[in-house]
Amino acid sequence: MTAALDISEPSVAARRATRAVTVRWGDHAIQVGGGAPVVVQSMTNTDTADAQATARQVRELWQAGSELVRVTVNTPEAAAQVGEIRNLLDRMGVPVPLVGDFHYNGHKLLTQFPDCAQALSKYRINPGNMGAGKHRDDNFAQMIEVACRHDKPIRIGVNWGSLDQILLARMMDENAARATPWPANAVMREALVVSAISNAERAQELGLRGDAIVLSCKVSHVQDLIAVYQTLSARCDYPLHLGLTEAGMGSKGIVASTAALAVLLQQGIGDTIRISLTPEPGGDRCREVVVAQEILQTMGLRAFTPMVVACPGCGRTSSTVFQELAASIQAYLRAQMPVWKNRYPGVENMHVAVMGCVVNGPGESRHADIGISLPGTGEVPSAPVYVDGKRTVTLKGDTIAEEFKQIVEDYVARRYGQEAGAAPAHRPGVVPRTAD
Ligand code: SF4
Repeated sequence: MTAALDISEPSVAARRATRAVTVRWGDHAIQVGGGAPVVVQSMTNTDTADAQATARQVRELWQAGSELVRVTVNTPEAAAQVGEIRNLLDRMGVPVPLVGDFHYNGHKLLTQFPDCAQALSKYRINPGNMGAGKHRDDNFAQMIEVACRHDKPIRIGVNWGSLDQILLARMMDENAARATPWPANAVMREALVVSAISNAERAQELGLRGDAIVLSCKVSHVQDLIAVYQTLSARCDYPLHLGLTEAGMGSKGIVASTAALAVLLQQGIGDTIRISLTPEPGGDRCREVVVAQEILQTMGLRAFTPMVVACPGCGRTSSTVFQELAASIQAYLRAQMPVWKNRYPGVENMHVAVMGCVVNGPGESRHADIGISLPGTGEVPSAPVYVDGKRTVTLKGDTIAEEFKQIVEDYVARRYGQEAGAAPAHRPGVVPRTAD
């Protein structure tokens, strides 16, 4: 017997209910959790002691779409420059909240550099990198006291590579005494979750508000990450920061991060994401922001920039014309967004199809808001354009790319200019979980 076809609309699970944490700089506030859209964040890789270079990179990441930007605060020289970085950003008109990343000496730096503590909008605390025993407890308490005094939220960021070794040793001993001991890997996962939640509870006992705490438990293997966050999500309602740590370079890093985060996001788990890509030498740090946005947009969770649908090409496309047009249209659309997102509300939901020949081209073009099918090998050298499902014009000659961009620009102005102030249009099958 064949199984009945499920004709219901596919959709993601409802978001797990979490507390709403506000990360603020001045009037600019980003809500993490509490049903807010999943927040995209990133991290600089400049020397924070170089205020000019760090402010420039923060601006680039923000312009690419990063809603929070984290900076390393590892030395007195770095801490001394955080206030200057904030001033430079304010002068540049960049309101993005800064998050300070602390390990080992955060208690000292936050205490000795009050301007740094004030200029940051959130502190990342790694409870595994704070010393041991009473020192560790005192250092943690000192950081929480600074967070309370400056009214700043924190992230308790536990990491597989720097897990609290005393906690792990105790849990390993307890496990050995079990009638049927768990596998060592399961104990490690449990230790990550216990470390995150117990430190969050300790922060609250020390006076931090419960709606000022975000949790993360980062590991570098996809299946471990999924298992850890499923457990974490089931045991607490703190907002969760998702990320696969040490994801790697190039396609491996993107694929591994996407595989892990897509499973969790589909289950409604995750309130903010960061994609930890290792850049190629001289590569663009903003790539991690673009990848994070593309994960959320291709899953139908948020919309950031018009999406280009392009066929992979095959033996019918012996020239690179259509690949060049697809790449150029995608770059053009992304470059317009800083202006378009304010001028043309809803344009981020637009779909553009760039297809290599007439086999699937016209069909895909009809489903897009605007689409073009370039001539394949041996086809008549003309490119039919479809707008809102109807064939409108056929482009010919050497200026197809320029003419098509002009058609896209006119369409955007006509359609989304008229819709200014109206609710963004969402395509069928794209189910926004929350308003952006
Ligand atoms: S649309 Fe045409 S060129 Fe593109 S993959 Fe299909 S057959 Fe090949």
